[in-house]
Amino acid sequence: MDKLPNENRDLLGPDLPEEEEPPSKPHFIDEVTLLDEYLKSRNDREKSTISERSLTFLQTYFPEATVKEWNSWHWQIKNSARSIEQLSRYIRLSENEVKPGGTGTQSLPLRITPYYISLLDPDNPEQALRKSVVPVFDEFLIHPDEATDPLSEEHDSPVPNVVHRYPDRVLFLVTGFCSTYCRYCTRTRMVAKDKCHIGVKAWEPGLQYIEQHKEVRDVLISGGDPLTMPDLHVEYLLSRLRSIPHVEIIRIGTKVPLVLPQRITRPLVNMLKKYHPLFISIHFTHADEITPEVTEACGKLADAGIPLGSQTVLLKGINDNVETMKRLMHALLRIRVRPYYLYQCDPVVGTSHFRTSIDKGLEIIHGLRGFTSGYAVPTYVIDAPGGGGKIPLLPGYTIGREEGTVLLKNYEGRIFRYPDNSV
Ligand code: SF4
Repeated sequence: MDKLPNENRDLLGPDLPEEEEPPSKPHFIDEVTLLDEYLKSRNDREKSTISERSLTFLQTYFPEATVKEWNSWHWQIKNSARSIEQLSRYIRLSENEVKPGGTGTQSLPLRITPYYISLLDPDNPEQALRKSVVPVFDEFLIHPDEATDPLSEEHDSPVPNVVHRYPDRVLFLVTGFCSTYCRYCTRTRMVAKDKCHIGVKAWEPGLQYIEQHKEVRDVLISGGDPLTMPDLHVEYLLSRLRSIPHVEIIRIGTKVPLVLPQRITRPLVNMLKKYHPLFISIHFTHADEITPEVTEACGKLADAGIPLGSQTVLLKGINDNVETMKRLMHALLRIRVRPYYLYQCDPVVGTSHFRTSIDKGLEIIHGLRGFTSGYAVPTYVIDAPGGGGKIPLLPGYTIGREEGTVLLKNYEGRIFRYPDNSV
């Protein structure tokens, strides 16, 4: 890549491990644009929201840092907690949480942005958000049904980093880095490994595979978290994919808007909206994640015409009851995110303490459907172990057939008949 003026260097993003640069400076951006975007980015950072809670946290733990620094996503990544010792500066660890000096969890390292730490209850280890990101000893318990790759993604991978399971779409895993690691992550086999960022050269076989497979009309960019990559790298990927005539839609799967909302800068959004139709699926867990910062970040994406959907994993002790889930779904709609999937927790090694029964998931769907807006009801799915793909689950609304009619149960449990005698 050509040299850039010093003041433009931070457009290339933080100094992340094992990142490779694009093979040459992309043709779609010149240095005038870079300077322009840098200035807009600076203004954007200065104007971004900071909630009172985050401000108090900033003043308490980073008294030397400015609000402008706090609102820089590079600063957030650089100052993330990466060890239990660092985390113990901010929260009082419980017996079950891995204590300083302990061996820690082996499968997935710890990383949490200062912003997300500011949402954690320092005194309550049972707080939903805290349980989703702070390691506990239970992670060492391995259940016989668990696997490192429970969905057999490796088996359905024709070239590195591409999973081609369904007829007309592929999953493209473009990085192994996340700004905050979820303790129940399905991809612990690949995230946070030595070569966190897979890198531009390593994307090439995947891009060529997609170019050669005309049946692929939908590409889901995931990882890791693609929005932890610098704008230039995200744009490189999007522009390559958009130049493939048979790729109709591009999707990005991310948790960034709620763990690192500072990343949703105006230059990023202005770049993303050049690649429509583009969809973003956001990994929410609990309504307490929806703060003023997250509302602003999702608002910017929605204003750019990007349809936003949510993906939520059903997690024991975190969101496994109707009221908690309803509160989350309603909060999502208020910030213009459409509830999309509710996932049964995958049997990944060391996650048995997170898994609920399937009946619990059905009970939640039953408690939503009919009792609130249809838009607030996600599709409950099991991603079938062994690579069967997503299988939807519904409570038993169809209860039988009788003399040319179907017997149906409504949300209140009342029985109705529908004439079903057409041929
Ligand atoms: S954001 Fe996604 S890929 Fe990253 S740790 Fe969480 S579940 Fe895994």
